[in-house]
Amino acid sequence: KRIKNAEFIISNTDFRKSPKTDLAEYAFIGRSNVGKSSLINMLTDRKNLAKTSSRPGKTQLINHFLMDKKWYLVDLPGYGYAKVSKKTNENWGKMISDYLINRENLVCVFVLIDSRLPPQKADVEFLDFVGKKGLPLALIFTKADKQSINKTQKNIAVFKKHMLGSWEEFPPFFISSAEKKSGKEEILGFIDQMNSA
Ligand code: GDP
Repeated sequence: KRIKNAEFIISNTDFRKSPKTDLAEYAFIGRSNVGKSSLINMLTDRKNLAKTSSRPGKTQLINHFLMDKKWYLVDLPGYGYAKVSKKTNENWGKMISDYLINRENLVCVFVLIDSRLPPQKADVEFLDFVGKKGLPLALIFTKADKQSINKTQKNIAVFKKHMLGSWEEFPPFFISSAEKKSGKEEILGFIDQMNSA
């Protein structure tokens, strides 16, 4: 599977300025430094489509990319970055929640989770929000190359157990490594499936 044409369209702080479209849209979000830019670049076979962040928490924009003129990939700003002010965090929250709640063509929110870590507060809080709003969700466990597959599976099991405390079922999930270029087929296949459903 391959994306032939990945095109940057627009960056916004206000979801109302997002492209007017009927095409399906898929958003990617996670804690700063989770590997979101690297994942987006892997999915699109580009080195620098999404800017890998040397300064986490810097870009606070909703970024729209058009894939093969068929669907939108949206790069949302990272959350859970401690070194920004409360005010900045509140603005961030409003911008993201407005987008997630109101964007009508949004088909799925991919929440990226660092596969090496036990459940993180910021992730749990964000997933609570997603759950409360009933947004369609899939998880991507990133940086799987950094440890054995056993350890990754173990961490996912812990995450699952934690989530099932408040969720009825565990969402679809993927394991990825931008380093090893793994998880791409599965994630693009999943998107393809939803695009043709
Ligand atoms: P973002 O802030 O979520 O966009 O994260 P980036 O994509 O900028 O990645 C943060 C850091 O993690 C960078 O130093 C990346 O090189 C590294 N990184 C991202 N994905 C992977 C991965 O799959 N494997 C490994 N080993 N490192 C990764």
